[in-house]
Amino acid sequence: MSRVRARLSLGLLAGCALLAGCGAGTPAAAAHWAQPGTSSAAGPGSASPSPSVVSPSGSADPSRAPSAAGPLDLRAVGGKTIVIDAGHNGGNAAHPEIINKLVPMGTGMKPCDTTGTETNSGYPEAAFTFDVALRLQALLKQAGATVVMTRTDNTSVGPCVDKRAAIGNGAHAAVAVSIHADGAPSTGHGFHVMEPKKVGAPSDAIIGPSHQLALKVRDSYRARTGIPTSTYIGTDGINPRADMAGLNLSVVPKVLIECGNMRNAGDAAFLSGTTGRQKIAEGLAVGLAVFLAAAG
Ligand code: ZN
Repeated sequence: MSRVRARLSLGLLAGCALLAGCGAGTPAAAAHWAQPGTSSAAGPGSASPSPSVVSPSGSADPSRAPSAAGPLDLRAVGGKTIVIDAGHNGGNAAHPEIINKLVPMGTGMKPCDTTGTETNSGYPEAAFTFDVALRLQALLKQAGATVVMTRTDNTSVGPCVDKRAAIGNGAHAAVAVSIHADGAPSTGHGFHVMEPKKVGAPSDAIIGPSHQLALKVRDSYRARTGIPTSTYIGTDGINPRADMAGLNLSVVPKVLIECGNMRNAGDAAFLSGTTGRQKIAEGLAVGLAVFLAAAG
């Protein structure tokens, strides 16, 4: 089966694992928000940490509100174990026999994973999520966190969504975050944060802290990136979900962020640029730090 055919069949079977319409859409519409200073260069680039990170011994005010610029106060992540889950994987499309296999999702079974979506110009979600994950990893490690990645390359297949949750649980992570980007109809734009719903799954134990985490990540992400909350799903950027294996199976506080809509022109421009992806990583890092600071 060709790569293209594999992608199509997977899309039909499981969509983006996240939303109906993922990977679909018509030619992109104009963005409704402006984002100055965004590089238009696509590709992974280098995952260099921001020079403005406040080190664990830094002196920034931890009560400072998140902002679009200025130093990143990440002191609260020092000494914490954080799991970063970069959604999908670059090899998924070529191996439908693996990623279509059903795995436990906490309330039943669902496919191991999907291919993910891509921008209209062909920048894959899996490459985007991995690049952001590397940038986030660099920021958190610089600030003294122990970081566990659910995948360490963008060429292999998997792991399946149940394994991704198990990695966070096995690491006894203080917090875990799944990074994705959506493939909704092109007229919709903005980001949203998924949190687990109480559905009789292992995640029932961490519904409360995961909601707090969702709020912190939303606020910090919006402030740091300037990307507005979604115009097409969720309520003020928050979207509780009952059908996400990676959330249902987590027993550590966890959220999944759809960083923007890859099928929307404005969002795609931001997500495709290295400047945008660095801002995204910074927004996520601050969100985790604010959550951990509040959680003690
Ligand atoms: Zn995804």
